[in-house]
Amino acid sequence: MADARKTKNSTQEHEQAHEHEHELDAERNVEREARRRTALAQIRQYPDPVLRMRAREVEVFDEALARQAARMIALMHDASGVGLAANQFGSLLRMFTIELGDESARAIINPRITPLGDELETDEEGCLSLPGVLVPVERAVSVRLEGQGVDGRELTLELDGLPARAVQHEVDHLDGVLTINRTTPEARREALAVLRPRVVLAGSR
Ligand SMILES: [Zn+2]
Repeated sequence: MADARKTKNSTQEHEQAHEHEHELDAERNVEREARRRTALAQIRQYPDPVLRMRAREVEVFDEALARQAARMIALMHDASGVGLAANQFGSLLRMFTIELGDESARAIINPRITPLGDELETDEEGCLSLPGVLVPVERAVSVRLEGQGVDGRELTLELDGLPARAVQHEVDHLDGVLTINRTTPEARREALAVLRPRVVLAGSR
């Protein structure tokens, strides 16, 4: 009996501790979601015209550029994104930030992409500027990415799979190209049906 009660008590304690953990988790999730929404509100959304513009080459590698890169990386993290192009930040400098596997996030300036091989793959892509839209996009499976770091140093990376897809997506942004311009006509139609009501609401203000 005493033993049973003891077990019961420790079970209760355990459950209470567990409940507390759940509450903490829920709190953390609410906090993360709030941060994500705040970040999304700072990211340019379709049909903002800056998303259709071509970003220009970066020539000056100064403190301001490094600061912008740091702010873009923070915004990308808060928005739970893996990549963010300058256009989405309201800037027309040729740069994007990216999460490349286990490496920490970095900024790539004046990027150039060369497909390695002919292999193409179609997969669904989302975009922080097109919330609620996932469309199939065909991309090269392997690419060489050349560009510069925030310090102006040249860099070359060979990428496959998801990171390769992500950098192609970001360079598209710098050329004013969105996933809905690269997808099938049906997927584009469906995406626009999701996006249009928001456009009408924005336009009526
Ligand atoms: Zn995007």
